[in-house]
Amino acid sequence: MRLSRYFLPVMKESPADAQIVSHKLMLRAGLVRQTAAGIYAWLPLGNRVLQRIAQIVREEQDRAGAIELLMPTLQSADLWRQSGRYDAYGPEMLRITDRHEREMLYGPTNEEMITSIFRDAARSYRDLPRTLYHIQWKFRDEVRPRFGVMRGREFLMKDAYSFDLDEAGARHSYNRMFVSYLNTFARMGLRAIPMQADTGPIGGDLSHEFIVLAPTGESDVFYHSNWERPAELSSVDFDDVDGLQTIVDTYTADYAATDEKRDEAREAEAGAELRQSRGVEVGHIFYFGTKYSASMGLKIQASDGSDVIPHMGSYGIGVSRMMGAIIEASHDDRGIIWPDSVAPFAVGLINMRADDAACSAAADALYKQLQDAGVEVLYDDRDERGGAKFATMDLIGLPWQIIIGPKGLEKGVVELKRRATGDRVELSPDEAVAKVKG
Ligand code: ATP
Ligand code: MG
Repeated sequence: MRLSRYFLPVMKESPADAQIVSHKLMLRAGLVRQTAAGIYAWLPLGNRVLQRIAQIVREEQDRAGAIELLMPTLQSADLWRQSGRYDAYGPEMLRITDRHEREMLYGPTNEEMITSIFRDAARSYRDLPRTLYHIQWKFRDEVRPRFGVMRGREFLMKDAYSFDLDEAGARHSYNRMFVSYLNTFARMGLRAIPMQADTGPIGGDLSHEFIVLAPTGESDVFYHSNWERPAELSSVDFDDVDGLQTIVDTYTADYAATDEKRDEAREAEAGAELRQSRGVEVGHIFYFGTKYSASMGLKIQASDGSDVIPHMGSYGIGVSRMMGAIIEASHDDRGIIWPDSVAPFAVGLINMRADDAACSAAADALYKQLQDAGVEVLYDDRDERGGAKFATMDLIGLPWQIIIGPKGLEKGVVELKRRATGDRVELSPDEAVAKVKG
């Protein structure tokens, strides 16, 4: 993409209405614009990152055996009356009336809808176990939308729902999601700590919140210093019931709790290794037994012919909130530092002298070479000062920069810079392409 033809409204100054660094940087780097309180338009660069995050979530859901579908944002109030949650949910639910005076709502979550879809289709034990998910916009009329996309009113969520014959099966489904979440966040360069959590309005008795440490987070958290190691990927057979349980047990062995779930005995045990911080909730998983299946009349026939009420769980990831959490964890005073896995483009190509024919010819050629090599590149071909181009590239945080200037060209080299470390090396154009490709 040529920057001269792109839509990237960057801001030099920090916007006054943004309090935390990720919100400031998302506005400054032209990722989002607020269109109403807690509601954001995703500008081209922000949309690319959002799609990248969603794709990692999707791949890890699929790997764990979950099946993607897509449910609507608008739901009927009658559906929610079946579970009894229509009246219970409160003012966070945006209620809408259509032209026929039918009561509708913008879905804050989808337990009722998926339960009704599954109820109308599943007949026998052969239809279980299943985990279904979608990546869809939600609306919650938050009292205090703030911190940009961290606490929006409209936000993108991945929500998955599991159906099992019994509690043991449901626990396995829960463990699948637990491990899948660890891998999902690790792929985005994040250590998300699973913490025992309250189940809130979803209900049920087994629940973990996945929390990324950040000084600007909204939750107070307490944890063992062992959590301060980088996240790693678990390679795992998701059908291996005992193997998965072992991984979950390992991950829950080190103490970690939110304010509501603190455990004095375990904190004493951690002793000098106890840490306190703040964190951002990026995911939340629940097992709630037959709460929705029983109230909504979901029954299936077991192998012996008897009726069984499936056990369910639900599993959310805040896809749009993730973007804020990643920036909180990965930035410096010049701007964002995208992890390679979610970067909107892999490389920013800077032509230092757009007014110099030789420089422009070399930059155009390298742009084409990168594209041909399948590297996603944002090419700053504008007729601007080099300093302004550097500042923009550092602000938007692409993992690599390739800088072409007249002095290097005389020697047949370009400069390759790694955004995260600031390390610069001079290489031939071919070597630079090979390096960013690998
Ligand atoms: P919170 O405690 O932050 O209000 P929640 O517990 O109400 O969140 P869940 O129902 O568990 O949220 O939703 C699943 C995930 O959706 C959360 O872990 C979070 O990442 C994301 N999420 C929830 N509310 C918002 C919001 N207002 N804006 C952005 N993301 C959100
Ligand atoms: Mg939650």
